[in-house]
Amino acid sequence: MDNKEEKPKKKSRRDFIQQMSIVGAGTVLAGSAIFAGYSYQKKKKQGDRIKVLTANNELIEVDKNDIIKLSKSVPADLTEMQKRGREGIAGKRWVWVIDLSKCRNARKCMGACIGAHHLRPEQCHINVLKMEESEHTPPYYMPKPCQHCDNPPCVAVCPVDATFKRPDGPVLIDNERCIGCRFCIAACPYSARMFQWTSPLKEKEDEGKIYDVELNLPEKKGTITKCLMSADRLRESKLPYCVSACPNGVYYFGDENEDAVTNGTTKETVRLSKLLEENAGYRLMAELGTKPRVYYLPAKNKSYPFQDKDKPEAKESIKDNNI
Ligand code: SF4
Repeated sequence: MDNKEEKPKKKSRRDFIQQMSIVGAGTVLAGSAIFAGYSYQKKKKQGDRIKVLTANNELIEVDKNDIIKLSKSVPADLTEMQKRGREGIAGKRWVWVIDLSKCRNARKCMGACIGAHHLRPEQCHINVLKMEESEHTPPYYMPKPCQHCDNPPCVAVCPVDATFKRPDGPVLIDNERCIGCRFCIAACPYSARMFQWTSPLKEKEDEGKIYDVELNLPEKKGTITKCLMSADRLRESKLPYCVSACPNGVYYFGDENEDAVTNGTTKETVRLSKLLEENAGYRLMAELGTKPRVYYLPAKNKSYPFQDKDKPEAKESIKDNNI
């Protein structure tokens, strides 16, 4: 990858888009953001103007042709690493199962992910949320990565084909193409994407490295970051970072084509269909039609009592990974 050749183009594209952010990124709530994304697509076809927010919080309209011109300025040629990152691993359909009955907020998954992707703690690709359905039901913890939707609204709204759905399952981002428009953030109903406002944590250390789409390194300020399903680990036939790091057996990961998933802690391999059927597996906000590749098993018969502590493990995990 010849980074030197691309830098002038990237600068001008980002200079343009830096002046604005789509209204939805700042104002649309996660639950309805999906509709904002589809309405953008509709407007694009009709030739309407698009409303955006400037960096000074001014609401302005831009011509859709500006966006189209912007997309044409992105280099058409892909490096070998970029092509490889798009093709994925033949014959596979990766799938995740997260057993909520086993999560005790150890946050080792977060620490491993942060360490591997050179992230700041506040940029974590996977978050462990405290959940409580009602005041009459007990709370539980829910790890939430990108859902790697089979029908991803984030991909549908990207004007420069920077984010894409791979045949083997992951939704990835090519930050050599990303212009930082943040349309994808507005479109994601799971709030799974983040904008990189600051310089990369390990900018100097990663300087000069060939950009790896599957690891999204080196990172770039002004682009998007999110969970990558540890695509670099899948290429090495290894389980994702978070799956391997969990000490409590929360994560199963595997290939839907083989109907098999392996528990990251016990290494036990089980039938996917049976695991989901016997434990009432479900997908988040399935009614939206996004078809996530992440399944959840409800927090019934929890293996651990809920402990609402000040996340000491999180600090420990981060320390373990030299963040
Ligand atoms: Fe895209 Fe992931 Fe959000 Fe689905 S969960 S819309 S794949 S960013």
